[in-house]
Amino acid sequence: MSILDKSSLADNPLGYNNSMNNAVIPQKICILGSTGSIGISTLEVIDLHPDKFKIESLTAYSSVDKMFKQCQQYKPSYVVMVDAESAEKLTKQLLAADLTMTVFSGEQALIEAAQAKDVDTVMAAIVGFAGLMPTLAAVKAGKKVLLANKEALVTSGQIFIDALKTSNAQLLPIDSEHNAIFQCLPSFEQQRPGMCQLASSGINKILLTGSGGPFRTFAFADLDNVTPDQACAHPNWDMGRKISVDSATMMNKGLEFIEAKWLFNLHVDDIQVVLHPQSTIHSMVQYIDGSVIAQLGNPDMRTPIAHALAFPERIESGVEPLDFFNSKAFEFEAVDFNKYPNLKLAIDACKLGQGACTALNAANEIAVAAFLNEKIKFTDIAKINETSMNKFVSEEVITIDDVINLDKRVRSFTSTLIGNFI
Ligand code: NAD
Ligand code: MG
Repeated sequence: MSILDKSSLADNPLGYNNSMNNAVIPQKICILGSTGSIGISTLEVIDLHPDKFKIESLTAYSSVDKMFKQCQQYKPSYVVMVDAESAEKLTKQLLAADLTMTVFSGEQALIEAAQAKDVDTVMAAIVGFAGLMPTLAAVKAGKKVLLANKEALVTSGQIFIDALKTSNAQLLPIDSEHNAIFQCLPSFEQQRPGMCQLASSGINKILLTGSGGPFRTFAFADLDNVTPDQACAHPNWDMGRKISVDSATMMNKGLEFIEAKWLFNLHVDDIQVVLHPQSTIHSMVQYIDGSVIAQLGNPDMRTPIAHALAFPERIESGVEPLDFFNSKAFEFEAVDFNKYPNLKLAIDACKLGQGACTALNAANEIAVAAFLNEKIKFTDIAKINETSMNKFVSEEVITIDDVINLDKRVRSFTSTLIGNFI
């Protein structure tokens, strides 16, 4: 039996976002990537509101032990472990513990989980390109989609937004910067992600803040020898390893730049990156009358997760409020692009078009994995990304198959390139 068969056994006639208007009916949630940093933070918020949310399905790649514990606690209707061996192992553990939920495996099962009828809300928290197809499936199925997986929007851009336009999905940003921008917009603009007309709402700049990562105060020459653990030790945020390295290179801010362009229908000149080492201001929106509206809070992803889960209502997240009397001064700096060549590459890619963005993302995933496996130096990441992006920059990307094909070819090219670096 597939997930779709299983899901259709019980229909959901009330639609995808009924539950926040009716406290009796909990929102049924699918978490794509439940064993990761965002997945776990989502479950922590849900723990505070057992009347409002019900876990329908959980998915992960291969973390059997974490998933087993989540199954014991949340008793989802079904689970996906993409890796077949891990799915088998989990099935055995669940049987031994008298737990009856079905375990599916494979990439198709992720897509089916994301579009299952019994699901109202999908938390898209898989890391990397692997999140694209299930996230897109959730959009096409008209779900309330909480978008953490920025790589989905970066790699498919207009295709993703077109799918949003033609479905009745509701897209809410989880990335703290985009969630902050969203919160600073007039409600009229919040109703139309991907189709905003911010100039007509008196907005003339989006100020995307970034901490600068763990190496902000390092001399560029010293970055050659930094280790994966140093790169993953972010000063303010506790995140998965891939996004942590991206934060250290500021590729993360570059991916967010591209994500912001699509989410808020912006031109590249409308977005400015501002270094703000304290990560207290999560981003800002500048209006033509001189007003700048910012969203502030402790750097904890449970805040944007709670915001999106409950939107347009507000619920508690478990995050402590800011303590203004004992906080450090807020600092702001301009970005030194010589120190953060990956950020420059991503902004260039955003100007160059979809081929460049899809290629840069694929190259970066391969290069970051090679750095984490200690095959290349931290400073090699940008060199590899640049070579790969330049090679594929003029590729035409119109359909989702174009995206998938290009991603595959860039991965292969980049892997060979890294082989030559070693
Ligand atoms: P993570 O590495 O902690 O977790 C990733 C999750 O995805 C895990 O559950 C893992 O099992 C699953 N996964 C990994 N590879 C997979 C594959 N090939 N197929 C299916 N599932 C797979 O990552 P994270 O830090 O939680 O980040 C998740 C996403 O959210 C990323 O796109 C990241 O950019 C974005 N995001 C994260 C944060 C944060 O604070 N962690 C903040 C903003 C945005
Ligand atoms: Mg972010």
